[in-house]
Amino acid sequence: MAIIRVALDVPVDCLFDYLAPDASITDIGLRVCVPFGKRRTLGIILSVCTDTSVPGNKLKQAERIYRDIPPLPPALLELFKFCNRYYHHPIGQVVMNSIPNRLRQFKLTIDQPSRAFAWVITDKGRLLDATDIPARSRAKRLLLTTLQDNGQIPPEAFKQMSAHNRKLLREFLALDWVTQMPLVPGLPTAQTEPPSPTPEQNAAIAAILADTGMFAPWLLHGITGSGKTEVYLRVTAALLKQQRQVLLLVPEINLTPQLEARFKQRFPETAVVSLHSGLNDNERLQGWLLAQQGKAGIVLGTRLAVFTPLPELGLIVVDEEQDLSFKQQDGLRYSARDLAIYRAKQAGVPIILGSATPSLESYQHALAGHYRLLRLHSRAVSGATLPVIRCIDLRLTKAPEGLTEPLLTALQTALSQQQQSLVFINRRGYAPVLLCKSCGWVAACTRCSSRLVVHLHARQLRCHYCGHQQTVPAACPECGDPDILPFGQGTQRIEAALRSHFPAARILRVDRDSIRRKHAWQSVLDAVQNQQVDILVGTQLLAKGHDFPNLSLVCILNADASLYSTDFRAEEQLFAQLMQVAGRAGRADIPGTVLIQTEFPHHPLYQALSRQNYDSHARTLLRERQLTHFPPFAYQAVLRAEAIVIDSALAFLGKAAKIATACEQFGQIQLFDPVPAPMMRLKGRERAQLLVHAHSRKHLQEFLFDWQQRLHTLAAQKKVRWHLDIDPLML
Ligand code: ADP
Ligand code: ZN
Ligand code: ZN
Repeated sequence: MAIIRVALDVPVDCLFDYLAPDASITDIGLRVCVPFGKRRTLGIILSVCTDTSVPGNKLKQAERIYRDIPPLPPALLELFKFCNRYYHHPIGQVVMNSIPNRLRQFKLTIDQPSRAFAWVITDKGRLLDATDIPARSRAKRLLLTTLQDNGQIPPEAFKQMSAHNRKLLREFLALDWVTQMPLVPGLPTAQTEPPSPTPEQNAAIAAILADTGMFAPWLLHGITGSGKTEVYLRVTAALLKQQRQVLLLVPEINLTPQLEARFKQRFPETAVVSLHSGLNDNERLQGWLLAQQGKAGIVLGTRLAVFTPLPELGLIVVDEEQDLSFKQQDGLRYSARDLAIYRAKQAGVPIILGSATPSLESYQHALAGHYRLLRLHSRAVSGATLPVIRCIDLRLTKAPEGLTEPLLTALQTALSQQQQSLVFINRRGYAPVLLCKSCGWVAACTRCSSRLVVHLHARQLRCHYCGHQQTVPAACPECGDPDILPFGQGTQRIEAALRSHFPAARILRVDRDSIRRKHAWQSVLDAVQNQQVDILVGTQLLAKGHDFPNLSLVCILNADASLYSTDFRAEEQLFAQLMQVAGRAGRADIPGTVLIQTEFPHHPLYQALSRQNYDSHARTLLRERQLTHFPPFAYQAVLRAEAIVIDSALAFLGKAAKIATACEQFGQIQLFDPVPAPMMRLKGRERAQLLVHAHSRKHLQEFLFDWQQRLHTLAAQKKVRWHLDIDPLML
């Protein structure tokens, strides 16, 4: 009698055994419906065997094995088992949370692909004034404004529209206000000849292609604008010719449409599938199935795409490999970059980690010879040079409203030369603090250890951590003084200041508040490309990977805040972020300038930045890490606990530290003291953490395996929620 061992979505680290008379080993990886407690649930078969430790009278029979789609391939199941072991996360939750939602339902429904064109507004439509439409035609007015705001109506939205609205759309089409376009965001559609690679690009491409039949980790370290994407494209072309699949991971969902368009344009014959959290369940399942059947030649996506089955995998690319968003911050806390390395090794294929500012982990691997290093030192477009980076000393120059005189002058110059500028301030809202000058009261969130941010347009105070909102009080709640003032700068306030300085300039603010609507991001990119913007004001959303050819000036405000953070990675991350923002300037034939307003112009970070010397800065940071025994020279895990009050969380960690002494390998690891988390209160709960260090990954893993089992036996668990985070990125 066959017994199947099934992964179920429960927080216990084991498989569940069921009788399945008709099962055979070819069923491994299939979906199965099983009774569980009083209900039925869906799981994945991980093995088929003949005996079980479950007593005969307790053993239940599986209800049904689904054979409607092929089983999950062995390589993917191996990856799940690796995640289970390495991240100490229950196997069933690893498996069930990494597959598309639709596969977790009993009945597998695959909807027909939506009609694949969008209704896109034309220039004519964009220039119309919606208020010219008589007010009684409300629907018509509304539809036009929607189109003007979003740029397009995608097919899914069209399907859900009323008959009247669809009729209106067809009217718009006849009037040439909209046009129908295949759903490829981020056009250009014109087929352009691919550029011929520069000698540096050629060298990189040749090196990678020389060894495609085996595992080879490449660190492609190329300055911003050096044309790393062209290297990915050329290597991809070669592998597609060999009928192999290519997996391309990017940090941001916003980066996928542009890249998708570029790959589709270069490989019109190839099915390009994009997988990210912005898809609905049906779209995700369809993409996933195309990949699983080997039909998708290119799979492009954010971190979750690392769990895509790829039977013909031939190459993996991780673009902007240093980016923090490759690390999942809840549930299974995996690093998609590290799992990508695992997959490349497993499949015996090359992997390219691309970056202008590699993570210190990857850079150290390259220095030590574990990764092969490829360099692109110059910008790909001929004539394009690196920008000049200068600091403006805030101790010597006043900055009323957050903007200094030299900065305003530079903006004026760019305006008069009709070049675009970017003002970078990594803080959305109007002002980060609301302060009472009489008594010192500051508006704070009651649920988090954070201050409430002033959002002037909405007349609200908002917590950026928990989402709490309240109206701005008319007077100080402590002393009653009505003279309470916003203090400091956010994107909205800088936008307002710029508008008063440059009333004729076209200013566009880009932050999470302004691009909340679907497709708003695309209209931003279009507006920049079409020269409808003079000054962009925004957060790090603007920093990543986008090509703005007419941008000549980048201004960086308020970066100092992260210089003296408690997180040992803060400096590495700030450097990467500022290099990236700076890299937006002077991409094509316009030389760029970057101005940084700072109170610490002599800080080594700004010095290295102005020399644009990643290597010397990275080596300095690595030396510090080596002296202090921090990653990448040590391995870390953190045990985090949260409770209603901090004392319970700390007490739990105290007990955890005590039982650790009995664990295997305790002598090989170092436990730090339990401490409150840097952001102690969050969403009404208080959090503490306990850091574990080791000099060997193996010792750390053995210790964690033992420790974790003992942690489950600790009594205080009901009041305290806890989790382990392996290779944590934010402490
Ligand atoms: P990176 O990702 O390294 O910052 P991109 O791949 O975005 O750089 O390339 C920057 C710009 O250079 C793009 O506009 C791209 O089209 C262009 N480019 C890339 N390679 C070449 C080349 N060999 N010749 C001319 N232009 C190129
Ligand atoms: Zn007061
Ligand atoms: Zn809050």
